[in-house]
Amino acid sequence: MDIRKHTIGVRVFSFFLLVALTVCAQDAPGSGTERDGTHARGQREGDGAPEIIPHRRNSHNAIAPTGGSTGVITPNITFHGGPVMGAPNVYLIWYGNWNQSNGSDTASGKNIVKDFLHGLSGSNYYLTNSSYGAPTGTFAVKSEYTDSYSQGNSLTDVKVQSVVSAAIRSGQMGPADSNGIYFVLTSSDVAETSGFCSQYCGWHTAGTISGSNVKYAFVGNANRCLSSCAAQMTSPNGNAGVDGMVSVLAHELEETNTDPNLDAWYDANGSEDADKCAWTFGSSVKRTSSGAYYNMTLTGQTGNSRNFLVQRELDVNSKCYVDYVNKIQ
Ligand SMILES: [Zn+2]
Repeated sequence: MDIRKHTIGVRVFSFFLLVALTVCAQDAPGSGTERDGTHARGQREGDGAPEIIPHRRNSHNAIAPTGGSTGVITPNITFHGGPVMGAPNVYLIWYGNWNQSNGSDTASGKNIVKDFLHGLSGSNYYLTNSSYGAPTGTFAVKSEYTDSYSQGNSLTDVKVQSVVSAAIRSGQMGPADSNGIYFVLTSSDVAETSGFCSQYCGWHTAGTISGSNVKYAFVGNANRCLSSCAAQMTSPNGNAGVDGMVSVLAHELEETNTDPNLDAWYDANGSEDADKCAWTFGSSVKRTSSGAYYNMTLTGQTGNSRNFLVQRELDVNSKCYVDYVNKIQ
């Protein structure tokens, strides 16, 4: 165990104490991870391991998705001196089985993710991140890798890192990329035992892999738990699990962009940018003829057009946007 991990352990212990004192039991402690789950985090989980984004329970289409505040989300986000990423490279690791007959873990589901990322880079939404200085609001999807259950169907945080490590060591995605963000995207039959579905919907962190500082994230197919990790059951692309997943993916991507090593942009409570807008979708939400809510239309890989419902992102002045260019909150 290295010093960094030991430090993390101490922080996790402190966090458990805080949890005991505040009864904020929803937020999982990370081993230095930023986790995004069902609750706003009251405490930074510690540096080094994944972050988990708290995601609210969904409304089952009973009501429109929450718009959210147009004011400053206090306490203000501030800079803590660590590096940020200008224009990161994105790597997709498809874990488990994405060729199932359940209508969600499918090749077309993967295409929803890829179309989403294709349109997201440089979008009016993602340009919110350019307000932080060096981040450009753009990124590039570099390559993909498939892992058929090399670590089984029940992952731990450590096993997620092993998945990333094996994918890098395979050479199929090129050498370890310190400007990369590696996403482990699990099919819905895969558990993440530190709290996927029960305490978070995704997380991001950084670690040393193959001698490089590698940023990586976990995002599972929300089809495993639509009530926890998707905003709606009827979704714009006919795949509620993956349509839920992409909102979490955007969240983890922008947080890694602006706080890759968990020492750059976050507020006095330890919340990163996207945490402060989590599960709010702004004032421009529309509805498709099938009843699915959406707040942005992006251009996919083949010039196709898709609608998505994506949680807002925070700008450097601590306001949440769905369209930073037109200042739509
Ligand atoms: Zn977060």
